[in-house]
Amino acid sequence: MPKVEKDPTPESDGPEVILTDGENTTLEGDTGLNVGKAVKQQLDSLRRSGLTCLPKGTGQYDFSFDEPPPEIAPQKSPSRLPNQRETVAKSKIEESKSEYSSNLPQPLNPNTEPSRVDSTPTIAAKNKLASVQSKSVDLRPYATPLGLAERQTALQVLQEEVAGCVQCEELADSRNQTVFGVGNPNARLVFLGEGPGANEDRLGEPFVGEAGQLLDKIMGACKLTRSDVYILNTVKCRPPANRNPSQIELANCWGYAEKQLETLQPEFICCLGSVAARTLLKTTQSIGRLRRQFHSYRGSRVLVTYHPAYLLRTPSAKKHVWEDMQLLMKEMGVDLSN
Ligand code: SF4
Repeated sequence: MPKVEKDPTPESDGPEVILTDGENTTLEGDTGLNVGKAVKQQLDSLRRSGLTCLPKGTGQYDFSFDEPPPEIAPQKSPSRLPNQRETVAKSKIEESKSEYSSNLPQPLNPNTEPSRVDSTPTIAAKNKLASVQSKSVDLRPYATPLGLAERQTALQVLQEEVAGCVQCEELADSRNQTVFGVGNPNARLVFLGEGPGANEDRLGEPFVGEAGQLLDKIMGACKLTRSDVYILNTVKCRPPANRNPSQIELANCWGYAEKQLETLQPEFICCLGSVAARTLLKTTQSIGRLRRQFHSYRGSRVLVTYHPAYLLRTPSAKKHVWEDMQLLMKEMGVDLSN
């Protein structure tokens, strides 16, 4: 009968059960079938005595009473609250997604009216623009001059026509009123500006804001008052946010200024700024190149100088304007020496 001995090896993980027949650690021998029976009895005995496992051996037998290992639950990634940076990043991504999707072309809704504002020029507007842009400066002589009463009437009729004009949809929608022009219908000198600003749009008169006050000072230095001159703009409606008038808007509106000039037939025209100068003289040259000399428009002599609004931003240019005005006054026969 084999007996159970404990392996004294300290490094072992547990009691190693060795079946021994007394001298040789073998399970083979002369006992034959009895050995199996004996082993079974021994194991039963061990179980009864509380032994539940035998270490795996390297030999022929491998007894294992181990309970299957408890199932190890699959490891879950530890849950945690997102930190602040992750929260901000996530909200930015959501914002970008929403901005991106709002910029995407939206599907057409058959129940929705198309927007009234359409920046695409019509064919008529394109034709008008092409004819204005391709023209060189108008040198045709003025027609026979009108008397004062006829000028006043002609200007009054034209002003009413302008007041009802809606050719430029954006400007017509956003304006308070059109700004036609003001001054002496018999003036020798006309000042031609760009377009109304906020104050002009509110009051209906050109050059009444800060730039207008500077123009008054320039005229005062030239011994002129508003009642001596006529003041008009290239476009009669205020471009939103004081932007420059577009080419289409200039083409739409320039006919009104042409009619005003035709009615007034001034000896001199002073263009204030590049929009006025380029539209009247049909040129793309800069103010720097156009000033200090006289140009021709129909029967009028034209001088170009900087816009008063530019002088407010660039006071160093005032000396150039004064040079231009001295030249103009000399040509007009106005003595500035006393
Ligand atoms: S800017 Fe001139 S053309 Fe355009 S809507 Fe005003 S008045 Fe009419």
